[in-house]
Amino acid sequence: MLTTDPLHAPPTLFTTLFAAAHEIAPDVLMHAAFVNTYALRTPAGLLLVDPGLGQNSASVHQAVRAWSTAPLHTAVYTHGHADHAFGLRAFLDAGEHPQIVAQENCLQRFARYRLTHGLNARINQRQFSLPEPWFPRHFDWPTLTFRDALTQRLDELEVRYHAAKGETDDHCYVWVPTRGYLFTGDLIIWQAPNCGNPQKVQRYPAEWAQALEEMAALNAEWLFPGHGLVVHGHAAVRTVLTETARYLRVIVDQVLTRMNAGQTPEEILHAVEPDAELAKRPFLQANYDHPKFIVRNLLRLWGGWWNGNAADLLPATWEAQAQEIVRLAGGVDQLITRGRTLLEQGNAVLAAHVAEWATRAAPGDRGAQALKRDVYERRLAEEHSLMAQGIYRAAMNDAKQVLEE
Ligand SMILES: [Zn+2]
Repeated sequence: MLTTDPLHAPPTLFTTLFAAAHEIAPDVLMHAAFVNTYALRTPAGLLLVDPGLGQNSASVHQAVRAWSTAPLHTAVYTHGHADHAFGLRAFLDAGEHPQIVAQENCLQRFARYRLTHGLNARINQRQFSLPEPWFPRHFDWPTLTFRDALTQRLDELEVRYHAAKGETDDHCYVWVPTRGYLFTGDLIIWQAPNCGNPQKVQRYPAEWAQALEEMAALNAEWLFPGHGLVVHGHAAVRTVLTETARYLRVIVDQVLTRMNAGQTPEEILHAVEPDAELAKRPFLQANYDHPKFIVRNLLRLWGGWWNGNAADLLPATWEAQAQEIVRLAGGVDQLITRGRTLLEQGNAVLAAHVAEWATRAAPGDRGAQALKRDVYERRLAEEHSLMAQGIYRAAMNDAKQVLEE
């Protein structure tokens, strides 16, 4: 789980982000179970960075306690996501009383999570193809929050927390200057930045790039990411930070230029592409999020929700539109035949639209549902982005359910 040569490291998939807990750097224990949790030995006790998922709390606690008996002085949530800020329970149940540090927006996040539990449980189910809706209900609330920055003295060791926006509005990164240790949270995840997620709240690509550039200026020797490989060496760390920033800037700049030139959201979506060279980097592959989703997020951030098509402003229902298309085609069978042809020609993108028209016009038609099933099975097979895969798989399963398969 360590590289000194990030340009030639193997690309990481989320399913491969597991490793037995081990001391990855002097005085730093790494526990990798989808998310990376780190414990840092300090003169005042342990600093735990990202306690992790609730279901891994016992495993993190056990690993940390097998490694050190020093008291848990502080835990920090680099942000309030379910995979980072919910693993503290086993420590608290064992009678530890750490300070819990987080950026102040983490409080509003937890409040929002309470308000939208059902929604988030269903989003997670779809995104990760879980058997059931799932989302945490129990919160171990931060005890020490900050707005811009916070410096903590753990005896003679200084720890700095810096607020950032990026994947979330409640991010922070942790900098230990005398050790050259930088804990980035999900500002680095060994994937194309997760700032486009189609199902989740606003993300901040430009501020993300800015935070990466700030971190690059620290000249850290070690980079401990929220997911993926730890990076060792000043030049290696700088490469990962600056190239990830540049990947984002390339997208941000194109979107902004085109928005200011008066292009419509759909034109911009189709026109903007990531930098081809950077997109090949092992730490920037789009196996989780998708660069087109980042474009969508920027359009939402800077613009309204209207897509540029006047018919969609106060539209007919999808069902009414689909019925009209079926009428024009001369029946749903014509749509199914055309969808099959497109699929055979390798055009699953267009075939998916035809399948949606067919199933929305005639939801009980088995041929229409079978087309939908096969179209999304193909899209799933052709797609690398886990976020897209989750949505395609759910759509395929919806069709299978109607077909009673
Ligand atoms: Zn994460």
